[in-house]
Amino acid sequence: MREWIVAGNWKMHNTIQESIALAKAIKDGIASVKKGEVIIAPPYTALASVSETIKGSRVSLAAQNMFYEDKGAYTGEIAPGMLKDIGCAYVLIGHSERRKYYHEQDNDVNLKVKKALSVGLKPIMCVGETDEERVKGITRDVVGRQVKQGLAGVDKIDNVVIAYEPVWAIGTGKVATSAQAQEVHAFIRGILKDLYGSAANDIRILYGGSVTKDNIGELIGMEDIDGALVGGASLKPDGFLGIIQKISEKK
Ligand code: PEP
Repeated sequence: MREWIVAGNWKMHNTIQESIALAKAIKDGIASVKKGEVIIAPPYTALASVSETIKGSRVSLAAQNMFYEDKGAYTGEIAPGMLKDIGCAYVLIGHSERRKYYHEQDNDVNLKVKKALSVGLKPIMCVGETDEERVKGITRDVVGRQVKQGLAGVDKIDNVVIAYEPVWAIGTGKVATSAQAQEVHAFIRGILKDLYGSAANDIRILYGGSVTKDNIGELIGMEDIDGALVGGASLKPDGFLGIIQKISEKK
């Protein structure tokens, strides 16, 4: 049985004080939820404070990105060991905004996934097609390539989480239908089965893209959707806790 995950990606939002307040509201708000995993990914500047705030709770900390070297002359970058040091258990890798604005390629994603695993961080590897790619009918080619190349050389999959985030659904209010999402999730699981056999049955595949407490109910009812990666709706306690509540009722 796969344990569901709800992960909040705060992107470039929130001061330290705002982050502490939001983290505290989430920590308190999930006190009665006894299963599943809740992860929050504040900006780097708030990681240390949020790490303190959630200490001893069931909320886990994630970073939004990392570099694939341990240390060195890489101005502006953050090493995976630094994230471990600050209390991160997870790290987002290959988010579509990283791919779009910072030109991250599948090879960068692969180097980061392998490095994260090597230091004991769990990567949440993001994949997804653009609107143009979906219209062209090449969703499977794109997502298949991202999954296979992102995981190249990874021989143990247990600590990897995959997030399927159609780019056209991120921050647009245009959520994928549950059938569209399930179709791609099942496709991804099929690839994982080819690569890792029965271990693929335990891998969590999250859906991301304009998830709210009002649309998560149907998505989470699908067999291969194991939770959500949430952007906009994770910035307010009510929206994020509402999603957690809905998922915990259904999974
Ligand atoms: C995201 O950035 O990962 C995301 C899913 O954003 P939103 O929920 O705002 O679409």
